[in-house]
Amino acid sequence: MKKLIVITGASSGIGKELAIKFANEGFPLLLLARRVKLIEELNLKNAICKSVDVRNYEDFKNAINEAQNIYGKVDCLINNAGIMPLDKIFNLSLDTQYDMVDINIKGVLNGMNVVINDMKDANAGTIINVSSVAGRWTSENRVVYNGTKFGVHAISESARKELAPYNVRILTIAPALVDTDLISTTTNEEVLNNYHNFKKNLKGGLSAKQVAEVIYYAYSLPQNVSLKEIVLSDTKQVV
Ligand code: NDP
Repeated sequence: MKKLIVITGASSGIGKELAIKFANEGFPLLLLARRVKLIEELNLKNAICKSVDVRNYEDFKNAINEAQNIYGKVDCLINNAGIMPLDKIFNLSLDTQYDMVDINIKGVLNGMNVVINDMKDANAGTIINVSSVAGRWTSENRVVYNGTKFGVHAISESARKELAPYNVRILTIAPALVDTDLISTTTNEEVLNNYHNFKKNLKGGLSAKQVAEVIYYAYSLPQNVSLKEIVLSDTKQVV
């Protein structure tokens, strides 16, 4: 039996395609998101599906422990869950700003916290944090989103240095535009129109499946090959 893979945000977009890819490659999976029905409907083999909000550390930890009791220790955690409500900072409620911080940053910390000591003790393991090009450069309507993804970049880079002596890999993946539902938490009509026009000009950008293939490739390299950061976009996307 191959080793256990944990994927957050597996109910749609990149996480869903990751779940399908890893299942097709024969890995046992723990798949997490709030809309668990959408994950169950994928009907994937050897997949435990749990309704977990990544903000809830206890639920996150219990789900991982339950899966580990069946499939053994986690070999790869993919922190993919995220939200992107775009708008000017003066239009975004503080609650929405906090949600972004809690899901995009604290969700990543929660997941890392559950697995990191076991990986360190095992001298093996991989953590893949899904950041964004928004973690490398700032742009309009992304004040807090940029902040969270810069945070994910910084956390991943620093943790990578601390975990390297223990043979644990940490990969930051930074996609540009991917054709998913990520914009669904944005409500400002003008921001939505601009986003959709940009997306249309790029014919949708990368597909979630393409991103999942790249992540799978990085994981499938031998444990001593650490692809530290991947920045990827549709070739026609300039930034
Ligand atoms: P989707 O909206 O399609 O997927 C987001 C996933 O995150 C869903 O499965 C959702 O599940 C899950 N999620 C959101 N909030 C929570 C929560 N509180 N607890 C658990 N799961 C949660 O978007 P993408 O696939 O595009 O997004 C995946 C990642 O990729 C995000 O981190 C995003 O920032 C990043 N990204 C996306 C880009 C793009 O252009 N699409 C570009 C760069 C990075 P549910 O609602 O069921 O809980």
